[in-house]
Amino acid sequence: MSINDAAYQKCINPDCGAEFDCGQALFKCPKCDELLDAQYNWDKIEIPKKLSDFAKRWANRNNPLNFSGVWRFRELLSFCEDKHKVTIGEGQTILQLNDAVAKYVDMEKGQLFLQYEGLNPSGSFKDNGMAAAFSHAKMVGATSSACASTGNTSASVALYAHHCGLKCTVFIGSGRIAFGKLSQAMDYGAQTIQIRGDFDDCMRQVQDVCTKLGLYLLNSLNPFRLEGQKTIMYRIIEGLGWEVPDWIVVPGGNLGNSSAFGKAFYELKQLNLIEQIPRIAIVNATGADTLTDLVNNKKLLWNDGKVNQSIIDDYYADLTARNFSPRTCASAIEISRPVNLKKCLRAIDICNGVVLAVTDEEILDAKAIIGKYGLGCEPASAATIAGLRYLRAEGVIDAGERVACVLTGHPLKDPNVTVNYHKEKQGEFSNPPVEAPNDLDEIIKRIR
Ligand SMILES: [Zn+2]
Repeated sequence: MSINDAAYQKCINPDCGAEFDCGQALFKCPKCDELLDAQYNWDKIEIPKKLSDFAKRWANRNNPLNFSGVWRFRELLSFCEDKHKVTIGEGQTILQLNDAVAKYVDMEKGQLFLQYEGLNPSGSFKDNGMAAAFSHAKMVGATSSACASTGNTSASVALYAHHCGLKCTVFIGSGRIAFGKLSQAMDYGAQTIQIRGDFDDCMRQVQDVCTKLGLYLLNSLNPFRLEGQKTIMYRIIEGLGWEVPDWIVVPGGNLGNSSAFGKAFYELKQLNLIEQIPRIAIVNATGADTLTDLVNNKKLLWNDGKVNQSIIDDYYADLTARNFSPRTCASAIEISRPVNLKKCLRAIDICNGVVLAVTDEEILDAKAIIGKYGLGCEPASAATIAGLRYLRAEGVIDAGERVACVLTGHPLKDPNVTVNYHKEKQGEFSNPPVEAPNDLDEIIKRIR
């Protein structure tokens, strides 16, 4: 069987529905400019009868594809042959039961789980997507790669590009990036171009540059990246003994994760590998709350793919007229024109989802709680716990439901935010250093 028979790309616009070979690097439908999906002819792929069958791969993890937390589920993202598959050991993440954080959000013991994606090689969930997208890049013979980034993408792209021998250019906005992340892109050898503008400006420029120069684009409108990000859900199911949770809570930025998660669950249900699709909660920061505003206030819906484009156009025109630039301490979700908006609307439809926005103060307090009782995370990740607290208070989520929050990035990604919160006593849980004279008795007096 040729791999080309098993997978293809398809436009998400039902009025177009154009299909393309996976051997092409397109990223947007050439006919109507909408997003593309990777789709599968499942009858041509040998899918395990039950999800727990994937567990057998762990016993043979000396094979790097079995060790990879992405490729050990390879039948569920079967778009390229093994010889093209790229892995640097991504997806060795853990699903941590955390009763102390559960108490903070008023949930019962034994029900709240934190999925630590910061444990990936570059320190964020992006590595799941890059393992898949760089495999596609190799499959189509790409030699140069590029991305626009608020930080985590650039770090991950640079790491994978350097691993597979591709050239790499990273576009960032001036002064609006966490330096912990930029340091990685520079260290991994990427050329970094700093554009005077915000992330949305970078996103527009990188698409044009890639088209003009034939560079392989690694932002999340790349459908193969989202295929890799589906595996975060497989690993949560794996962590729960091959059961699905009641809720997934995820931060909302460019909306690639929520889009990928919805697709993952839709496919698992279609394949009879799960009985029930969990609900999803997507959490914006109030300073970058396009999704929340569009869904909750403007009533934007997936509507079987017939999304009301004029609502989106009017909304973006208003942002432009007001010269609006998103602003939040959670730099990873500081995005006002999310590229995966429509796929995310589809995920909300599939998962009976809810969206909401939380303030920077709530994010920073939640981050301190995750740091104190968990393994820590970057600010955007903490939006999940801040959002879950709201959803519990409003009774949207019951105290006894099983919830998995996706913590997308490592605490060292943005140390400045952490230091400012604690040292400058910015919040309820600030834990500043205590000054002491160079004197033993005085020092001892200050030990708690
Ligand atoms: Zn199309």
